[in-house]
Order: sequence, then structure tokens, then C-alpha cells
Amino acid sequence: MTEQETTFQSMNLSPSVLKALQGMGFEEPSPIQKKTIPLILEEHDLIGQAQTGTGKTAAFGVPIVERLDHRSKRVQALVLAPTRELAIQVSEEITKIGKFAGIKVVPIYGGQSYDRQIRALEHGAQVVIGTPGRVMDHIRRGTLKLDHVKMMVLDEADEMLDMGFIEDVEFILQNVPEERQTLLFSATVPDPIAKLSRRYLKEPVHVNISPERLTVPLIDQVFYEVREYEKLDSLTRILDMEGAERTIIFCRTKKRVDELTEGLQARGYTAEAIHGDLNQVQRNRVMKRFKDGGSEILVATDVAARGLDIENVSHVINYDLPQDTESYVHRIGRTGRAGRSGTAISLIHPKEFRQLRQMERILRVRLQRRPLPTMADVAEKQREALKLRLADEIQRGVLPAYQDLVMQLAEEYDSVDIAAAAVRLMVDKGRDTASDEFGETGAEPGMVRLFLNLGRMDRVTPADIVRGMAEGAGIQGSVIGLIDIYDRFTFVEMPKDAVKKVLQNVGSIMIRGKSVNLEPARPR
Ligand code: AMP
Repeated sequence: MTEQETTFQSMNLSPSVLKALQGMGFEEPSPIQKKTIPLILEEHDLIGQAQTGTGKTAAFGVPIVERLDHRSKRVQALVLAPTRELAIQVSEEITKIGKFAGIKVVPIYGGQSYDRQIRALEHGAQVVIGTPGRVMDHIRRGTLKLDHVKMMVLDEADEMLDMGFIEDVEFILQNVPEERQTLLFSATVPDPIAKLSRRYLKEPVHVNISPERLTVPLIDQVFYEVREYEKLDSLTRILDMEGAERTIIFCRTKKRVDELTEGLQARGYTAEAIHGDLNQVQRNRVMKRFKDGGSEILVATDVAARGLDIENVSHVINYDLPQDTESYVHRIGRTGRAGRSGTAISLIHPKEFRQLRQMERILRVRLQRRPLPTMADVAEKQREALKLRLADEIQRGVLPAYQDLVMQLAEEYDSVDIAAAAVRLMVDKGRDTASDEFGETGAEPGMVRLFLNLGRMDRVTPADIVRGMAEGAGIQGSVIGLIDIYDRFTFVEMPKDAVKKVLQNVGSIMIRGKSVNLEPARPR
């Protein structure tokens, strides 16, 4: 089977893992997963050269879940990671992959109390993810028993080296059974890492997914720094600022495509989703509407966009960075065709800066950083556009019937006032009346602004609010718009449907452990 045809299904994975991957929205294995999962399942030792963002966690996480003896409660897989953040992230991802297999995953890292970790370990941990120092401490204290470990993973080995953990790593390697599988993932393989692998890995297979030299299309490539909770809000401002006409937005998973499409539609954009769940007829329909200009935005996964023949796209937006550099080039190649100019925009979380730099190095390009437009920028831009439209209209020739009407009014009113009133009517007509039933709340068009009785003094963060609303009222985090936190209260914007759900479920919404009061805001 060629790599192109490798799917999760063709890898002989168990139904529970396939179901979990589907739930996570993974449509097909990433390049590193295609290459490594089969090898790891065959119990080879392996050196995987891959960056964060390539899907390397699932590359070893899937085989770990597959290879566990689910009846045994002992530690069978140990993953070492350089930082506490990475340890937590890896632990979350493996927990998700093992959701239906019912596995126990325990992260252990410095900074957290030993007691809690010891209790978690005593409860039976099958997979332990830890930072080297803390793992070593637990080994010395006798609170972490590794004699049943059959898989050992060194994640981001070069980072562990840079952070001075290499001796701890060696100590740990000497304390796991010889009879084991060892996997080493690293973006680079400097000498000490190569030496380490010669000593502790058995005939490792070397897997490298750094791509061939790629030709990058000559278009504007820019990026904005954006946090996850503000992604949708930022995206809409960027779309408004850019005056994007025909735009393709890429997300990493089907689930994200659906969520984003809904979020955009709720804000009044004509966006449509395209991904692997659509049948051919549905796909054709979506594509036709996009080509005819019936919809302005296509939200897609990489898989769905492959093989689509779409021309004249003004903007390609990476809502999520792609898993590998080749996909990036593929994605952005959809704009700027046939000599037209195009713009490729990437929304980048600070966590992804390393991946961005690596991509820039491979492609020998530099993405230009742009500051996020503010609401005022967007309003200004919209006023400019309005001026242009009015000027155009005047130049096209004014209708005598309307001229008459204005003249009549001018006998009583100031002509500038008449014009301003006419403009307001025109603008309001284009605006949806979502906020009607809640009265004017001072929200952006199409949204409702809610008042929440917690603020900075209660230490709430936007993430707390998004989580509280999602868990308590079942609304998707992505539909939540602007969150404005003040000392004692907070304003949260969301579309009307979401507001209804929130107001029906106020009693169940807990934020920072507190129940909250929420009501439509009064206009500013
Ligand atoms: P990693 O390189 O492991 O940090 O993964 C980067 C991101 O890609 C994580 O959010 C993963 O959940 C996600 N991911 C991993 N594999 C896939 C896949 N096959 N399809 C879609 N997303 C994936």
C-alpha cells in the first residue's frame, strides 16, 4: 500500500481507538503517523524526526493504547517530556485516544504536590507521562515502579538535552526493563542525542518527515498572533478588514470546520463547510455555490480541499496551522493563481511560534507579522467602504424622484441631516435584527451582549468563561465572541441562539467554582 492510501482503518487499529480518533476529528493520519504507527505496532525501536504540530503525539499515543495490556494496572508505558505543559498536553491526548479503551494515564511533573501524584500512581497508572526530574524523584522514592514498562518514549529529546535533563533521562533509561521498545522523537538530532540513541535504542528505524525543497507561490504571507479563545472574533475582524471576497479557511479537523462554519454563519457571513462527511452530491452543491459567488467563504479540512479545482480565491486563511510544511504550501497555493494577487493569512498561537519558525526556515520565507485590527479599525474601514459606495452612487447619476423627495425635506430640515438619516436607514437595513428580543445590548451586529457578575477580582479568565458556558449550557466555545473583563463584571458576546441556551441554563453554569448571574447587557 502506498503511503497516500494509508488510513487509520488500514492500520488494523482496534474499534475503540478508531472511534476515539473519529471523535477527535482526525480524518486521516498525518505524514508522521502514516510512517511511524505501523512500525511502532510492529515493535520496532524508532527515531522520529518531527516538530510539534506534526501529530507526533498521536504517532506514539495510538500504538501505546493499542499495545497496553488493559487488564494489568501496572505502568506499561513511560513518556518523558521536557516541560510540564508538554507532559499535560501529551497526557490529555493519550487520554482522549484511550477514551473508549478505558485506560489510566497519569501526568507527573515538578511543581505539583507529591502526595497527589503518589495517590494517582497508587490508583493504578498504565501510562505515565512525566518530566525527567520528577520521574527520577519518584523512582528514587520508590513511588514509581517501572518493572513492567514495555514502551518508553522520549518526546522532544533535543529540548530535554537543551534543558540539561540528559543525565536524568539516562538514569531513567537504566531503570526500565531492557526488554522494551524505545521511541525517540526529536526535531533535530544533535550528537549527544545520536549517542544516546546508539546506547539505548535497538536497531532503530529512522523516520524523517522534513519535506523536499518546496516552491512557494509568490503571494503575501502574513500572520496574526491569536489566542484560542479569541480566534473567531479575531478572524471576523480580519475578514472585515481585508475585504476578503472569496476565501478558503482551513481547519485541522472536521469538528473545527463545523464549529467555525456555524460561528461564522451566526455572525452573518455566508460560509459553508466542506469535509469528508459530505457525500459527492453535497460536495458538488457546496462547491457550485462557492464558485458562483453564492457563498463567500469555504471552510475546509486539508483532505476535503485536496483535488478541488478552485480559482480566483482572494484569501487563504490558516485558522489552524497545517501539520506539515507541504500542506501549508498546498493550502496557500490556492490563492494568487494565474497572475492574480492573493493573500495567505495564518492565525498563530504563541505555542506555535516554534513550528512557524521551522516552516519559515524550510521554505526560506518570512511571514510578515500584522497587529490584530481593533473594533475601531474595522469601523473605520467600514465607513470608508460606505463613503466609496455613496460616491459611486452619486457619480452614476442620482434619480430625479429621489432628488424631489430630498428637496421637499430640505424645506424643513438641514440637507446634511437628511443625508445622514438616509445613510443610517441604509446601514440598518443590512443589519440583522438578532438582538431585537433582548433589546439593544451594545453588541456587534448579529450578537447579543451579556452581563456577567464576575470579573478580574474573581480571577476569571476568558478560558474560564468559555469552559463554564460550554459545560453548563452546552454551547460551543467557538461561537462566543468578544469577552471584556472588568474588575467586578464581564461582558460576553454571543449569537442569539447561544444566549437563549445560556439564559435557560444559568443555574448550571459554574465559573471558577461559583454559580453566576447573567443577563442581557444595557447598551453602552
Ligand atoms: P502534535 O504534533 O502531537 O502536538 O499535534 C498537533 C495537533 O494536531 C494536536 O492538536 C493534535 O490533536 C492534532 N492532530 C494530531 N494528529 C492529527 C490528525 N491525524 N488529524 C488531525 N489533527 C491531528
